[in-house]
Amino acid sequence: MDLLINIIVCVKDSVAITAATRLIRIIQIKYWQFMRGLGKNRYKVCSLVFVVVLLFSGFLRLGISDGLDTLRYERISRECRLVFVGNWQYQEKQIAIDGIEQIARKLANTTTKRDTPCEAFRNVFGINTKEPMQLHHLKTGDVGGKCFSSHVVGIFGLFPLYKPMAKTKSEHLIVHEFGHAFEARLEDVMGTKIPRNLLLKVQYHNPNFPDRILDPETGIVPNKDYGFAGVRWLWQLSADPSPGEEFADMFLGWAYDAWADNPAGRLRSDFMDAHMPDWINYLDIHRVKGAS
Ligand SMILES: [Zn+2]
Repeated sequence: MDLLINIIVCVKDSVAITAATRLIRIIQIKYWQFMRGLGKNRYKVCSLVFVVVLLFSGFLRLGISDGLDTLRYERISRECRLVFVGNWQYQEKQIAIDGIEQIARKLANTTTKRDTPCEAFRNVFGINTKEPMQLHHLKTGDVGGKCFSSHVVGIFGLFPLYKPMAKTKSEHLIVHEFGHAFEARLEDVMGTKIPRNLLLKVQYHNPNFPDRILDPETGIVPNKDYGFAGVRWLWQLSADPSPGEEFADMFLGWAYDAWADNPAGRLRSDFMDAHMPDWINYLDIHRVKGAS
């Protein structure tokens, strides 16, 4: 009897143990499933929060920097009295304004007065509210520009932005055109384009002074530095040998203090340092009414 009872207890125990083991196993599985599920959810929630925070901070940062940039460009346009005519892309406007700001800073550093960059720009170029500086987009698709007068500068097209150094070259193209506008302004006030005349004189009398001249064999100007900070089209935006085009490229070198590190570069730089302050201060004295 005892044996029978023992057998029954034993069977019951083993069933109970097996059942308990199974139950524990089920609980274990469910627990881990639950935990894993919980972890996944937490992971998802955290990831979502992380991505949202990341995107938000990114957008916020981009938004702030875009906003600040926009404000900066708007401020320079307003203060320098720039009027964009034609179908300018926003990025093209930025490139133009960057170049103009560079010129304005250099003018302000050169005048004997404590003008802000845009004040110096307005005074030197003879700009007021009635006669702003007009920038025309001529939109032919060709890379290049044209200066119509001291107050009207046009571009046909800038360097395509997917090309190397396109932004810098485009900015330099605009500054080059302002070199022509500067000469035109001197002509407005003095009655003569004095920079090209002086340059021609210096090149005639000083055989060491660099000169872009046509190669008699090819009939074109060879692509060399000629004392400029680089070859075409980075620091020489013209392949023309005329002194007016050379001066526009020298205006570019002067605006950025960028010259070839050689005797030719120093001669060009010295020429600009010798004359630009006088010309700028002369224009500043003869500023138009309402320029400041
Ligand atoms: Zn030119």
